[in-house]
Amino acid sequence: MIPPGAIDCDVHVTVPSVRDLLPYMEPYWREHVERRGLERENFDTSAYPPGAAINARPDWKPEKGPAGGSLPALQQHILDPLAPEFAICNVIHGAQMIFSEDLSLALCRGINNWLAAEWLDRDPRLRASIVVPPHSPDLAAEEVERLAGDKRFVQVLLLAMAEVPLGRRFMWPLYRVAEKHGLPIGVHAGSSFRHPPSAGGWGSLYLEDYVSFAQGHAGALNSLLAEGVFQKFPDLRVVLIESGVTWLPASMWRFNKTWRGVRAEVPWLNRLPADIVRERVRLTAQPFDAPPDAASLLSILDQFGSDEMLLFATDYPHWHYDEDEVLPAGLPPDLLRKITRDNPLATYPRLKQETP
Ligand code: ZN
Repeated sequence: MIPPGAIDCDVHVTVPSVRDLLPYMEPYWREHVERRGLERENFDTSAYPPGAAINARPDWKPEKGPAGGSLPALQQHILDPLAPEFAICNVIHGAQMIFSEDLSLALCRGINNWLAAEWLDRDPRLRASIVVPPHSPDLAAEEVERLAGDKRFVQVLLLAMAEVPLGRRFMWPLYRVAEKHGLPIGVHAGSSFRHPPSAGGWGSLYLEDYVSFAQGHAGALNSLLAEGVFQKFPDLRVVLIESGVTWLPASMWRFNKTWRGVRAEVPWLNRLPADIVRERVRLTAQPFDAPPDAASLLSILDQFGSDEMLLFATDYPHWHYDEDEVLPAGLPPDLLRKITRDNPLATYPRLKQETP
């Protein structure tokens, strides 16, 4: 049972169609999209094929339109029965993957404007991540600056696998702006498919892609740590979203052990890397890729070495569990409160601020 006042840190809102974004785009870009006929496509991303069962729980599938595309459905399925104080909306859309940097920005802007008007304005429990063109950190930073005044935007959203590893200096203008405005960087599962999701090359099946997403998160975290992002931006937090959780302890162990042997090449990494992860990195709790019982969850937290890293999330409308089994039954009440409320509030400073 989810206690009152929970904060759902990953709820998906689906753009029904690019046509729905047109009223929220600048006139030039509206005309540009219409002249090219781009509104006939929806840029669904192959990271989340709409027909795949994992991406829409059967009882959360609407009769019409995409799962996650309707506010009344989100209210009926999550906001009313679970009664979270806040739910953070994350949009995954082809706009984040388009090669034209200007068009990518224009569509991301349209998505953010649409999110504010069609979702945030209509339910006070909703918050959102800012969607940005991830391959143009300067344009992404501009979009974050444009929206920073609206405190309902609580995070900047990236995909785990992009054109360059996320820690590279190329990305730092975006991190500078995010840190300035108290916005964590949310690194969601997915790829912009500039490279294969698996480091070994292109797989044949979606099954391989989805399982590989955990490795994508491990690579992203390695890069953020090794390049010194956490030292350069001492107030920046990173949330790994829909990453699974069980890979992290092994990854931290391996990173620590290797760092001891080669630390001369990363002089800025002046603390045990796993300690930095415990302090600055958070993970959403769905999909929980271990047996769904309290003992397994406690064992994973023991391996993390912290009970402050896990954040409650339904990952609506993705199908990771049935009924209301979003967290295992039988967790100690203190821990349940931490995962569902205290940890999210400590991660997202904007949730504690007055909203307009
Ligand atoms: Zn998700």
